[in-house]
Amino acid sequence: MHTDVVIAGAGPAGLTLACELATAGVSTILLEREPQRPGFCRGFNLNARSLDAFDRRGIADRFIAEGLKVPSTFFGGLPAPLDIGNLGWDHPYTLGIAQTRVEEILEDRAAELGVDIRRGQGLTTFTQDEDGVTVDGGIRAKYLVGCDGSRSAVRKIAGIDFPGTPNTRYVMLGDVEADIAPGLHGGVFVIPRPGYLRVVVADPDFDRTEPITLEILNSTVDEALGRHVELANPRWLTRFGNATRQAARYRSGRVLLAGDAAHIHPPAGAQGVNLAIADAMNLGWKLAAAVQGWASPELLDTYHSERHAAGARVLLHTQAQALLGGDEVGPLRELFAELSELDGVGKYLAELATGVETRYEIGEFATHPWLGRMAPNIAVAIDGRPTSVAKLLHGGRGVLLDFGVVDHPPLDRIDVLRAEPLDEAPVGAMLIRPDGYVAWLVTGDGRAEPGPLAAALSRWFGLVPA
Ligand SMILES: Cc1cc2nc3c(=O)[nH]c(=O)nc-3n(C[C@H](O)[C@H](O)[C@H](O)COP(=O)(O)OP(=O)(O)OC[C@H]3O[C@@H](n4cnc5c(N)ncnc54)[C@H](O)[C@@H]3O)c2cc1C
Repeated sequence: MHTDVVIAGAGPAGLTLACELATAGVSTILLEREPQRPGFCRGFNLNARSLDAFDRRGIADRFIAEGLKVPSTFFGGLPAPLDIGNLGWDHPYTLGIAQTRVEEILEDRAAELGVDIRRGQGLTTFTQDEDGVTVDGGIRAKYLVGCDGSRSAVRKIAGIDFPGTPNTRYVMLGDVEADIAPGLHGGVFVIPRPGYLRVVVADPDFDRTEPITLEILNSTVDEALGRHVELANPRWLTRFGNATRQAARYRSGRVLLAGDAAHIHPPAGAQGVNLAIADAMNLGWKLAAAVQGWASPELLDTYHSERHAAGARVLLHTQAQALLGGDEVGPLRELFAELSELDGVGKYLAELATGVETRYEIGEFATHPWLGRMAPNIAVAIDGRPTSVAKLLHGGRGVLLDFGVVDHPPLDRIDVLRAEPLDEAPVGAMLIRPDGYVAWLVTGDGRAEPGPLAAALSRWFGLVPA
């Protein structure tokens, strides 16, 4: 083997995954087709859940230091943003930060961790057999992960179906300079960007084949506004549709998919970067366990079951957001806006739009609200030293956090920590996976959920009782 894992694609999914694998001590070659990052920027935000995830590796501050904290999120089509400033979250804001900067920060981190990043070297073909994969006839690895975007070569070569719905409408996008205020002007959406404006307008020509030019964009904008606004100095002109698709399988043998390679959806709601990061955080430790040979037989398959379900939720609400923005659903939008102001509804939508609602199916007895969810970042003391759940996960290992009810002997692959709560003890003990999600817990009164700790240690960490 030349390496444990080959990743194709150095976007948010591939870079986050590379960092996760390197943190777990797994060797990785990251192939990126483009010699350089493109000059334009697609996404502009990290949501609360992405920041939670990076916080559990000690790198959230690298992004937060550069971004703009906006104490709200939005649900596409609704006129007002949803307030998230008072929901008690660790990161009660959306971070305005360019996707290109997010990628640069992640790439620096991957390089620090020793990832072999090969720019200008795209994957063109691969084969897999019982023991591994061979990429482009040369690189031999135990696993291959396609993080190579929506047109994923890995997905196609692996023969993984990509069912869903095709484009039924298109919008044009121009990053330009213009004398027009940000906001929604009839059918023209103007979004402020650092030093320029992002202008988005429906493309009336569904069958267009020629590339978007400044002239085409300008005349379409003028038509929609009913007046002329001069657009100038284009940085990026493009056109995209509302196709929604999801890979039928996120795993085929030794080949896996993450990010846009596994799902596409309308950009409404600004989800894709964040979904890619969430996929990678879920996959990283499981793939590392498979490489290192301690995964239970079904562990890697839980990547598909957990992330396919989470992705389907995002496809659902991004389609809803795209529809809510349509001309023909004005009354529905108005009613929806009223509903979003009701107690609990705005919070529900905000949790949906930020990934905070994500809950993995941990077991049929999963009744405690924390089970399957990201463990709250509670403050604790270990050996008298104050710390927090997020900090305990920086090394990417699982944690059995015991407030004095389990008294478990030390274990190989996870940190067994006897903790004192710095506030009220919220549970008796909990088993936290490396991605921060609660896999088992026992309540303060000693009631274990969802079942014996031994079963959870075996399922998630391949630890079989002596
Ligand atoms: C107009 C627009 C606006 C958006 N705005 C937002 C937003 O505000 N917030 C948000 O969260 N998301 C946004 N998105 C979505 C977001 O950009 C994507 O979902 C995100 O980039 C997906 O990350 P990824 O790593 O899966 O794929 P990508 O970022 O597409 O990365 C794939 C990488 O793989 C490389 N590659 C491709 N083929 C190969 C190959 N054969 N071998 C090696 N490398 C290869 C590519 O060069 C690329 O670097 C937007 C998208 C668009 C189009």
